[in-house]
Amino acid sequence: MREAQDEVKKFDVDRDWDHYCVKDLLLNMTEEVGEAWNVIKWVDKDTEKRLVAENQDEFEDFVGDALFLILKIANQTGVDCDKAFKRTMQDYYERFPPEKARKAGHANKLAGGVDEKR
Ligand SMILES: [Mg+2]
Repeated sequence: MREAQDEVKKFDVDRDWDHYCVKDLLLNMTEEVGEAWNVIKWVDKDTEKRLVAENQDEFEDFVGDALFLILKIANQTGVDCDKAFKRTMQDYYERFPPEKARKAGHANKLAGGVDEKR
């Protein structure tokens, strides 16, 4: 992740695009989410699965664009992606023990799911 974060930084510096615009980048992420959602909105799970399979390029674009934006936001906010990801995974390991998570089937505590968040 460090390598990818540095590549995005260089990409932006080379184009003089490394100016601060976190709010706009966050809004840009909602645009990317909307593009992916547009493929599968308001359909049942079976149809969603089929549409995702039929539109793999669209979802590859979504993941690539979203990663680019996340790495760019990390650069602008001084976040180390490796450190942030490790911290998040450690938190998730503690909050969602496998035995309890499998039994509950989901993480929505309000709906009876498991979440050991303190
Ligand atoms: Mg896009």
